[in-house]
Amino acid sequence: MTAPVREAVLLDDARWDRVLVATKGAAAACYQCGTCTATCPWGLVAGPSIGVRSVMRRAQLGIDGWAEAAWRCTTCGACEARCPHEVPISEVMLGLRSLAWAERTAPQGLGNVLWDMHWDGNPWGRPPSARSAWAVGLDIPRFDATRHAVLLYVGCTASYDRRGQKIARAVVSLLRSAGVPFGTLADDEPCCGDPARSLGNEAYFGRIARENTVRLAAEGVTDIVTVSPHCYDTFSRYPGAGEAFRAHHYSQLLRDLVAEGKVSFAGVDAVNATFHDPCYLARHHDESEAPRTVMSAMPGLALVEMERSREETLCCGGGGGRMWMETAPEDRFATARAREAAATGASYLVTTCPHCISCLEDGASVAGARQLKVLDLAELSVLAGIASAAPTEADQ
Ligand code: SF4
Ligand code: SF4
Repeated sequence: MTAPVREAVLLDDARWDRVLVATKGAAAACYQCGTCTATCPWGLVAGPSIGVRSVMRRAQLGIDGWAEAAWRCTTCGACEARCPHEVPISEVMLGLRSLAWAERTAPQGLGNVLWDMHWDGNPWGRPPSARSAWAVGLDIPRFDATRHAVLLYVGCTASYDRRGQKIARAVVSLLRSAGVPFGTLADDEPCCGDPARSLGNEAYFGRIARENTVRLAAEGVTDIVTVSPHCYDTFSRYPGAGEAFRAHHYSQLLRDLVAEGKVSFAGVDAVNATFHDPCYLARHHDESEAPRTVMSAMPGLALVEMERSREETLCCGGGGGRMWMETAPEDRFATARAREAAATGASYLVTTCPHCISCLEDGASVAGARQLKVLDLAELSVLAGIASAAPTEADQ
């Protein structure tokens, strides 16, 4: 019997220092139980799974061999939710990516995303002058702190992506129906910095966060309502978040409006709907109740849960900057997710994130789940006939 070939490991103090600084030493608590590897959704698809435990060990020792895994991670947080030592695994992955940027080994093409943010103010390389084209005909006022309680932050995807634009317009309908005084920054709206952070370029993200914090203060913004959970998460990480201003995802505001009796629904014809929890609400912000509270207020709608729901949700595959990386059809988590949704017998697959919508529509198509209609909660709310108890005036 031949002995197994073992990989020679070269320990290098300088390298160890660099890895330790990049990951802030966050992998130190890992005791190599392997729960993370078993949890990671890359184990559900055709491609190789991520050896998460092995990446954590390499981060502890400062040795290479983590690059491919670090760039495949969607930062979904499923692994760290189960980690018995509470290792912030997705932060370690982002730290390793930041090292790759510093060493100029980040995958080709991702630099263009950051340059697009720099030149055009969005990661899609679209003209800044077209940022508010989604709102044509809606007559939305520019934010004015003396008249508006809320800054509606639309975000790059809902501003430029045609599917996302429908979600933004539905959110506007909601706010108007509830009489919420709001405005937007129109073409002056900056990127929140999520693509820079999720691609691991911490230095660039830090610069964007500082600049935007100054801008928000100058505009007199105290409450930001976002269309995307990714923008909500990103603003929540700014210096001054929670003090100088508060960030909310629109589903949280909608929950409050329903609870206060300012929004109610006429209802839908009897229909089953299932809800897909975005990782950046259910896991990174412990928010899974708000959308369910809203859905349960819609007469005629029955919520049927998938086996993996709330903090156990299955990632759509679009987080962690994966929207800007290619994923082969057989490796897309959203296909598995669409199959899970179809298995509930639901007609609607509802979620609250433009990235999830994009991935899940693709997943439903690949899975052949033709009976499933993928909707954002804002669109479902409009479909359910928002009946306002509040005067519709104040955004003018
Ligand atoms: S679950 Fe946590 S402690 Fe266990 S191997 Fe993974 S990172 Fe280490
Ligand atoms: S954060 Fe998600 S994709 Fe990344 S290693 Fe953990 S479970 Fe896998």
